[in-house]
Amino acid sequence: MKHSDVIVIGSGVAGMTAALASAQQGKSVTLLTYGASSLSLNSGLIDILAFDDEHKAVKSPLEGIKSLPADHPYSKIGADYVEKAVEFFCAFAKKYHLPYHGSLNSQMMVPTAVGTLKPTCLAPHSLSGSESFVGKKKVVVVGVKGLKDFYADIMIQNLKKAMGEELSYESVEIDTGIEGGRDLTILDVARWLDTPKGVDSFTEQLKSYKGQTETVLIVPQILGTSGHACYLTVASRMETDVVETTGLPPSTNGLRLQAIFRQALKDNGVEFVENTKVIGAREEGGRCTGVIAQAGIRQKVYTADKYILATGGFYSGGITMRDFEQPREEVFGLPVFFVKGEENWSNAELFSNKPQGYAKTGVLTDENLRPVDENGKLVLENVYVVGRDLGGYDLCFEHSGNGVALASGYKAAQM
Ligand SMILES: Cc1cc2nc3c(=O)[nH]c(=O)nc-3n(C[C@H](O)[C@H](O)[C@H](O)COP(=O)(O)OP(=O)(O)OC[C@H]3O[C@@H](n4cnc5c(N)ncnc54)[C@H](O)[C@@H]3O)c2cc1C
Repeated sequence: MKHSDVIVIGSGVAGMTAALASAQQGKSVTLLTYGASSLSLNSGLIDILAFDDEHKAVKSPLEGIKSLPADHPYSKIGADYVEKAVEFFCAFAKKYHLPYHGSLNSQMMVPTAVGTLKPTCLAPHSLSGSESFVGKKKVVVVGVKGLKDFYADIMIQNLKKAMGEELSYESVEIDTGIEGGRDLTILDVARWLDTPKGVDSFTEQLKSYKGQTETVLIVPQILGTSGHACYLTVASRMETDVVETTGLPPSTNGLRLQAIFRQALKDNGVEFVENTKVIGAREEGGRCTGVIAQAGIRQKVYTADKYILATGGFYSGGITMRDFEQPREEVFGLPVFFVKGEENWSNAELFSNKPQGYAKTGVLTDENLRPVDENGKLVLENVYVVGRDLGGYDLCFEHSGNGVALASGYKAAQM
């Protein structure tokens, strides 16, 4: 039986941050995970906090998190740790050639694939929309022949509303020449742009915009599958700003971020055990003494001094619900906070300015991110809970998903 200093369960932003930050302190780390994280779905943008409890826009995420309710994960994490986590993340992302930038004191606005503008806090240069819009007079939306889920005309209609009619707008379509008779996905086009031939063809087809420094080119998330090299090449050849939009899954930028996390974990000696589902835990005297992991039909016990639970809540099966009486945390059977009463679980209006009751479901913790019961009593002293497993916040309503995942994963590693 192998013993580690730290076991992390789950490989989303929360789990990978916790594993990386632990390993960088010289700890031996085993990461157990069974599936893809939500990074293949999400844009890889780090939203910290864009809307408050009443859905009013938050100008400064750092100030906003200081006035959240006591049960909110950020109130347990603390503003200092959020700042340190952001520093940690930006240093790591830069080292692995996907530099992120932004500020905890303002929001950046990133165009979505339908042309609305989404607030976020940290973005790679290719997605830093509002930073690149300054001083522009013309917006050119670049579509791709055969690409599904990207409609330049709809995008322009909405961009006009968001950015104003005083700019001029036009669209252009690129032909990749990829054959096969099916619709192209964003990844097909990103892979085409991974090749020198693809970049040559792309920039050649856009050459009439070259050097138009008052023009910004808005493209789907197609600028290569890894790092920011493709973005740099295209932007420098075009001699003007190029901005990617967010889009429907799969998310190329989420996958870029996932790839650099995995590389950093490998470089820092983390044992990354995939296709392995943690199905239970052993406990003694208020401590966890091991977790039981299943790979195929084989079960194995892994032990550590410290355990970090990062199984992604409802979205990734870390918390399940068989009836409206009591949700279940699947590994340790931890107490789960939830809004009682079936009728309080959801709003009839999906996109209303009120949070969804079910969304706050999760584990509540002490200041050190260790699980507590409904009376605030510590449940397991060497277990820490991070990311979407945490209760008391609605990440879609307030735009805080990857921010909470990053900051809680970082803090749990320091405890
Ligand atoms: C469509 C979509 C778009 C989003 N867009 C954004 C965005 O633009 N910006 C933003 O900030 N946030 C966004 N979010 C929210 C964000 O994705 C999440 O809040 C955050 O990434 C959660 O990270 P996590 O590590 O807690 O969980 P996850 O990413 O869900 O990872 C959980 C991991 O745990 C593993 N796991 C689960 N159970 C077990 C088990 N028993 N044993 C072993 N492994 C297990 C899973 O396989 C997975 O690897 C979006 C979410 C969705 C769904």
